Order: sequence, then C-alpha cells, then structure tokens
Amino acid sequence: EYSDMNFDCMFKILLIGNSGVGKTSFLLQYCEGKFNPAFVSTVGIDFKVKTVTVKDKRIKLQVWDTAGQERYKIITTQYYRHAMGFLVMYDITNETSFLDIRNWLSQVQQHSFGNAQIIIVANKSDLEDQRAVPTQRGKDLASELGYDFFEASAKTSDSVQSTFHALVSSICVQM
Ligand code: GDP
Ligand code: MG
Repeated sequence: EYSDMNFDCMFKILLIGNSGVGKTSFLLQYCEGKFNPAFVSTVGIDFKVKTVTVKDKRIKLQVWDTAGQERYKIITTQYYRHAMGFLVMYDITNETSFLDIRNWLSQVQQHSFGNAQIIIVANKSDLEDQRAVPTQRGKDLASELGYDFFEASAKTSDSVQSTFHALVSSICVQM
C-alpha cells in the first residue's frame, strides 16, 4: 500500500524480559493508548508499527514483542540480530524479573549486532505499595552497565512515550 512507504527510515526494536513484566501492555499503551488488565500470554513473537517524527525525519518503528518463556528462546534469538534497539524490562514488584535482567542482556550481547541501543525499563511504577525493587537498584545496575534507565507504567502510561523517545533518539544519534 502506498501509505506504507510514507517514512524515511525504519527501526526495528525488540522488547524483552521475563513473562509477566508488562511487555505486551507497554507496547499496547505506546501504540494504541490502551491498557488491558487481563494477562494474555504472548506466544512466540508479534510486532506493532508506529511512525514517529524525529528532527523532520519520519521513522517507522517496528516494535517486536517477544514471549519471555525459555521455551521460546530459540525463536526469539533469531530476531535479535536485526534489532537496532532493545527495551529490557523488569517489573518493580518482582525481584526475580530484576535479577534476570543480566541474563537478558547477555542474550542481547550474544545475538545482537554490535551497535544496538539498550534501555533498561522498570515497569509497573504505579504499584508503589507492592514495590520489591528500589528505584536506586535499577539505576545502579543501569549505570554500572552504561545504559539508560526509565521507570514507567504501562497502566497509567507514565514515561511510556519518553522511554521510546529516548531509545529512538539514541538510535538516531549513533547512525
Ligand atoms: P508480558 O508477559 O511481559 O507481555 O506482560 P503483560 O503485558 O501480558 O502483563 C502481565 C500482567 O501485568 C497483565 O495482567 C497486565 O495487565 C499487568 N501489567 C502490565 N503492565 C502493568 C503496569 O504498568 N501496571 C500494572 N499495575 N499492571 C501491569
Ligand atoms: Mg506478552
């Protein structure tokens, strides 16, 4: 379709992290401004498209939503090498999801191309009363590894746009 050509470049972005951290919700909030409280497990891999404008360039984002389960690792690692940016997500109410961030990052290191941009995202910031991972722990990990860090909520949409904006901007800068 003609309108599909209405962009200057395309970036592929991959959302990764344990099952249940909110990847699918984050993408739905970003692309459609919606939140669904029901947990619908993602099978394999799926993507959504959104076009953004950065410095007069129309950039088509193809954002891939992966399944976090180990059994899908074989499928999803195939997609790593084509991604220019990664949102590596944990859930602030789930410490295991935070501790697993290093494993996800080592997957990125093993399977992605060298210059991919990475942001660590602490999701579910609206659940302050159930917080298991202090903000500072996330910040410390990100600064130790040299990545940007955002705390966000797919439910309230807090920092969802700014997280994507930061990732897209850093991809633009390194091009
Ligand atoms: P995924 O497995 O990483 O794709 O996680 P989902 O997007 O399916 O979300 C898992 C569950 O967490 C669902 O019940 C969502 O409604 C819920 N959820 C996702 N993001 C948030 C958030 O920011 N705040 C709250 N309170 N719940 C969330
Ligand atoms: Mg999902």
